[in-house]
This record gives sequence, structure tokens and C-alpha cells, in this order.
Amino acid sequence: MDARAPAARTLRTPGDLVAAGLVPAGAARELDRVAARYAIAITPAITAAIRPGDDADPIARQFIPSRQELDIRPNELADPIGDEAHAPVEGIVHRYPDRALLKIVHACPVYCRFCFRREMVGPGGKSLTGAKLAAALAYIAAQPAIREVILTGGDPFILTARRAGGITRRLAAIDHVKIIRWHTRVPVADPERVTPAFAKALRAKGVATYVAIHANHAREFSAAAKAALARLADAGLVLVSQSVLLRGVNDDPETLADLMRAFLDNRVMPYRLNHPDLAPGTSHFRLSIAEGQRIVAALRGRLSGLCQPEYVLDIPGGHGKAPIGRGYLSGRDGAWEVKDYRGDVHAYPEG
Ligand SMILES: *Cc1c(COP(=O)(O)O)cnc(C)c1O
Ligand code: SF4
Repeated sequence: MDARAPAARTLRTPGDLVAAGLVPAGAARELDRVAARYAIAITPAITAAIRPGDDADPIARQFIPSRQELDIRPNELADPIGDEAHAPVEGIVHRYPDRALLKIVHACPVYCRFCFRREMVGPGGKSLTGAKLAAALAYIAAQPAIREVILTGGDPFILTARRAGGITRRLAAIDHVKIIRWHTRVPVADPERVTPAFAKALRAKGVATYVAIHANHAREFSAAAKAALARLADAGLVLVSQSVLLRGVNDDPETLADLMRAFLDNRVMPYRLNHPDLAPGTSHFRLSIAEGQRIVAALRGRLSGLCQPEYVLDIPGGHGKAPIGRGYLSGRDGAWEVKDYRGDVHAYPEG
């Protein structure tokens, strides 16, 4: 039996967390120091998924602030993936020729403690409106190489259906924009926001809409979250996954396998597994790349080929993403050797 009353609203302060029984009263002062730097928000849907009193709970670990966030390491970076190096106008990050990010909101329904944009996101930031949005769209319109626009933030699913629909139509009106991709945590973090009207608003003639769903543990897939994902899939949107490999959350093959199966069962195609970025105060979430490779390699053979996300690192400094999983091929032209999922090596008789 859960003795807590169900949370009726988003928890935003250490005081709220104490009142909800999620942290001991004695921790509030120290967490106020964390809160002064990094925003806190835990929605009712996420609060319901947390097992209070379980220090190792993988949901709590992602959202409840910790004193470890005050431990800033010398190798950590305020802008770990180098967004600023590729921002031609406010709200745009244009790193690869054929696709650009459009960051229209700074706020999120929840604030993940490992967030790679934690220095940029928060409830205070203004969303891109009016002249600034027009300038960002004008940049996209003037760059014929951009065929894909990736809406991120913050979390763009906090927009109303009317605004999301407006942006979709304005992007679809640009001839060379063929793909619109939204990156969001809302379907698991605040599933009621995904109404049928919202899902419908993301579609427009002349563009294909993809939605990358951010989730890191199978327990994030509540009944309400599954229903939200079904509304998106039924509306004709293509769903792909996005997760971060996190110490104490999903850093073992069985937990990661359960997560990938949860995506697949809900019509979300596994796409990306990110190695944790060097965001400030997040060293307690990081594991070594060698550990990551071992965990990811264990998925191969254990899980359907539909369940294999690409393991990537966003190279610090704005150099983009690189796959960092173990290689299966060695040798050279004419003399290749290829490793199977058990680790056995076979010659490939090319020619
Ligand atoms: C991650 C990212 C993308 C998308 O990369 P994909 O490999 O297509 O998923 C595009 N632009 C920027 C700036 C990014 O950081
Ligand atoms: S939802 Fe995304 S942008 Fe928002 S806090 Fe979490 S990781 Fe950061």
C-alpha cells in the first residue's frame, strides 16, 4: 500500500519534495543550494512511478536532486555538446549540412538531473516567439540544404496544440523541409498533454513527422504513457527512441534490454543510446565507455534486431555524434575478419 496521497501538481522545490515524502527534511537545506543552480520539476506521473524510500530507485535517481550535483569536475563543460559553436541565429543550431535544431522553448515538464543542457534549460527562459521565431524560420528558408528540422529545447511538447500546429505548418511551407523531428520526454513525463488534437497538429502535407521519445527505464512506461504513445502512433507519426546510458539507472544489460523491449512494444523504434555528456555536476551518472560497450554488446544476440539502438557519443566542442560501440570487423581489404555476437571471430572470404 502506498500511504502517500497522489501528487496533484508538479513538485518544484526541495520543500515540495520533503512534503511529498521524497527526501528527508534534513536534506532540504543542501538541496536548496542545488535548486539555486539547476531547476527542479517532478510531474505527478513521475512522482507516481517513484518508489519512496528506495535509495536505488532508477526513477528517483533521474529526477530527485542530489548533493552530488554540487561536485563540479574540471572536465565538465557548461555547453558539453558545443551548441554555441554552431548557432547562426538565436534558436538555431546548424552543425550538419542537411539538418538543423530549432530550439523553441527552454522549459521542460520535468528536469532530468543528468541533462546535457542543464545550464540552458529552466522555467525562467523565454520561448522563441514573434520576431525571433520569424528570424529562425527565415534562416531555415534561406538554407536549401536543410531538409530536416529537429524541434528540441527544452521540451517542445509543452507547446499548445495550436502553437505546435502553427510551427508545423510554417515549416511545411518551406519547400526544402521534408522532415520534422520532435524530441520529447512528455509522453512519459506528462502523458495527458498528448491529446489527439496535439498529435494531429504535428502532421502537415508535404512533410513526414518523426517523434524521438526520451525514456531511460521500462518503469517510465505507465498505462497513461502507453496510451499517449498509442495516440501518437495512431495519428500516423513515426516514433523512434532516445535514451541516455546512466549509472544506477539502466547500466546493466537486462535493464537496458527491458527498456528497449518497452519501446518496441509501444511502436517506438530503438534509435539512439547516448553516452552521458560532460554536463556539470553529473559525474555520479557517468560510466566508462568500456563499460558502456560491454553493456551494449550484450544486447546483440540477446534481443531482436529491431531492439538495437546505436550507442553514440556527442563529441565535446560541437564536432557532432560518433558511434562508439564495439567494432565487429577487423583486418583489411581482401582479408576481413568478423566477430559474431558470442565474440567468435570468422574469416570473410571476400572476392
Ligand atoms: C544530435 C544533433 C542532431 C541530430 O543528429 P542525428 O544523428 O541525425 O540524430 C542534429 N543537429 C545537432 C546540432 C545535434 O546535436
Ligand atoms: S527533458 Fe531533455 S532538455 Fe529537459 S531536462 Fe530532461 S534531458 Fe534536459
